[in-house]
Amino acid sequence: MTEPAPKNEPTAAPNFVRDIVQADVNSGKAGGRVATRFPPEPNGYLHIGHAKSIALNFGLATQFGGICNLRLDDTNPLAESDEYVRAIIEDVRWLGYDWNGLFWASQYFEQLYAWAEQLILAGKAYVDEQSLEQIRATRGNFYQAGVESPARSRSPEENLALFRRMKAGEFTDGERVLRAKIDMASPNQNMRDPLMYRIRHTAHHNTGDAWCLYPMYDYAHPLSDAIEGITHSICTLEFEDHRPLYDWFLVALGFVGDTKPEQIEFARLNLTYTMLSKRRLQLLVEENLVKSWDDPRMPTIAGMRRRGFSAEALRRFCELIGISKREGLGDVQLLEYVQREDLNQRCPRHLGVLRPLRLVIENWAEDEVREVDLQRHPEYPQQGTRKVPFGRELYVELDDFREVAPPKWFRLAPGREVRLRGACLVTVKDVVKDAAGEVIELRCTWDPASWGGTAVDGRKVKGTIHWVSAPHAVDAEVRLYERLFTAEDPMGGPEGSDWRDSLNPESLTICQGAKLEPALGKAEVGERFQLERLGYFCVDKDTVAGHLVLNRTMTLKDSWAKLEKKLGGA
Ligand code: ATP
Ligand code: MG
Repeated sequence: MTEPAPKNEPTAAPNFVRDIVQADVNSGKAGGRVATRFPPEPNGYLHIGHAKSIALNFGLATQFGGICNLRLDDTNPLAESDEYVRAIIEDVRWLGYDWNGLFWASQYFEQLYAWAEQLILAGKAYVDEQSLEQIRATRGNFYQAGVESPARSRSPEENLALFRRMKAGEFTDGERVLRAKIDMASPNQNMRDPLMYRIRHTAHHNTGDAWCLYPMYDYAHPLSDAIEGITHSICTLEFEDHRPLYDWFLVALGFVGDTKPEQIEFARLNLTYTMLSKRRLQLLVEENLVKSWDDPRMPTIAGMRRRGFSAEALRRFCELIGISKREGLGDVQLLEYVQREDLNQRCPRHLGVLRPLRLVIENWAEDEVREVDLQRHPEYPQQGTRKVPFGRELYVELDDFREVAPPKWFRLAPGREVRLRGACLVTVKDVVKDAAGEVIELRCTWDPASWGGTAVDGRKVKGTIHWVSAPHAVDAEVRLYERLFTAEDPMGGPEGSDWRDSLNPESLTICQGAKLEPALGKAEVGERFQLERLGYFCVDKDTVAGHLVLNRTMTLKDSWAKLEKKLGGA
């Protein structure tokens, strides 16, 4: 099935980072070069917030004819794993981006270590034997300067010898650290002799047992940027106060002028009804509150892909929201809107019934099967039509029937006439129930003069419902999703509340016995389509031969649900 290209118009959304880069290019800074990087820590799956950063970094490289690297920021051996690495690489690719170089911060360990020795010899770093608690306790606060460590006055030669012993594994975790010697009275607490190295006797997924001391992010990051020749190091606002430290390490090691990368901070993406934090998303997985990192309810790129979102729509959303310095709560409805528009363009139409109710047309010949010609896509008539079998025994949606129907109900009800999409008009004559009183079958008659769906006498039939021919139907399990959280800001609850309190207990509904039009029997994993009146769906990877599993990506705009609400629950 061919999908039409989505309409991806450029937007004029403000993007102050792009403006800065443009100005730098104009002024010939760094020789007019543009080099960015996306530096995820492989301690979880990427989420839609990361997509914003990916789109920004890779987008700038494309717009200015520059480069963008993918750098796995693997300086902390504890939280990182190969599963996360694979997922990150797959997700960035799937989003449609190609990197210039794929690098690991751990590739720079030797160089970073050599530079640390250089800083020690220059009297700009020292080994401290204070515990982490002591260091924290002597850092001071907003009102008070910190207290200098007794180790601060040690000679460079002594520090170098100690640092080498740290590297040789002579100390246990936490027994020694390396600190930058900056200013314990700085108004910026990040400048009060921050840590550069800590001891961790832990194997690293890339370097194995080669190291027992690992560099801190604030030390490794600016220098990794410098090694790669990054010109614009873009990060989120929480690093704004770290910028002086970022610059300090670079300048101390001679990266000045055109060789000094510039850190630029932008506001991270926050979304209503969504939690964007790898650490907490990991808890959702670990506590079995969702099934996996790629559970279609997750705001991870893997989850959204599995749910049926398209990379084009995610990129378009990232472009539309723009880039600013102001933190805010973005509306998840914009994401849904962009995705719905995209799916409307790309998805062929099909018929399917989620909760089937048998409908028998009594005056239709037992074995007569006709074919109904239905358009593949109403906006693209050039895609042609498909033939859908129609006969005496059908399935219709249980929800399209009301035994006692309100006046504005234009669907199935005793005595009322409706149109079966593209086929004909039927009137409900009898309702068959089981022993428990549940409706199990509708007995109907059809108007043989209405083939195609219109009455010859011109009488108006307002309601049109979808159907599937019972003997031809394909069975499927269909998973319906609601928002994972009921609170607009899951982490913004009152004092003492927990984000778990606002988990939506109805975020997943499984329809085991759905019935689909026969063409869908051949649908492949990842394939997307619209089921008329029900929404957009895609084939889930849990599908095996003989068991088709669908995810509902999202509903169509449901006009009845709105009307029902307005009428006060008719
Ligand atoms: P989280 O807070 O979800 O754990 P993180 O910031 O720890 O994410 P990293 O792997 O360090 O995750 O992030 C890689 C890049 O993605 C960083 O440059 C970071 O600033 C950016 N990023 C992370 N979350 C967001 C977000 N919500 N919006 C925009 N950019 C983000
Ligand atoms: Mg992080």
